[in-house]
Amino acid sequence: MRKKIVAGNWKMNLDYNEGLSLFSEITNMVKDEITGSQQAVVCSPFIHLHSLVQMAKGYDKVAVGAQNIHQNESGAYTGEVSAKMVKSVGAEYVILGHSERRQYFGEDNQLLAVKTETALKNGLKPIFCIGETLDEREAEQHFDVIRTQLKEGVFSLSTEQFSQLVLAYEPVWAIGTGKTATSEQAQEIHAFIREEIANNYSQEVADNTTILYGGSCNPKNAPELFAQPDIDGGLIGGASLKSRDFLDIVKVFN
Ligand code: PEP
Repeated sequence: MRKKIVAGNWKMNLDYNEGLSLFSEITNMVKDEITGSQQAVVCSPFIHLHSLVQMAKGYDKVAVGAQNIHQNESGAYTGEVSAKMVKSVGAEYVILGHSERRQYFGEDNQLLAVKTETALKNGLKPIFCIGETLDEREAEQHFDVIRTQLKEGVFSLSTEQFSQLVLAYEPVWAIGTGKTATSEQAQEIHAFIREEIANNYSQEVADNTTILYGGSCNPKNAPELFAQPDIDGGLIGGASLKSRDFLDIVKVFN
């Protein structure tokens, strides 16, 4: 049985105290309300990571992740944070390939393949994001775009490395827009991703890979999305900044 995960991406929101206070609400709610075996992951700015990991101790259903790492192990890269640093504070996950990193910071599949290797080498589990833009969907290129992102971004990993990965399908046109993919659209792509994994690795690897949906996911639409056979949870932006909304999404798997 593959793992069900609901991961929050706080992006560049919340100062230190605001972040700690939201996280404290989340951990309390998880303790009181989560009855299934799903995992809630909070991907915060670097500044919060160490404290959140300390606060998450004793809550086995809550994990902490970063939103980025540098591709190199260390060196003269002013302002950057390495995978080893993130791992050293006890974070478990790192989001890689988010469309905002691709769009605003020019991160392409080749760079993301290096970042993925670096993350894995340092014991971090990447939440690797893929997804097409609106133009690409309208031109009916979405399957090709996804295939290329997988091929160039992660399919050169060994089977052992790949099995550490969580994938997130995030149609760019649905991120932060309030426009969600329909459950049929999302399921179609998730099934396609699983088939690509089976073709490149094996059916067993494909069956064990957690594939999240992201893009304007909220407590209202999550039940239908998560009921799809190939959707194993969500990557949540806006709604992860409200403890009640985030928990209601996590609770879909109760
Ligand atoms: C995201 O940024 O990964 C995301 C899915 O954002 P939102 O939920 O706000 O669309």
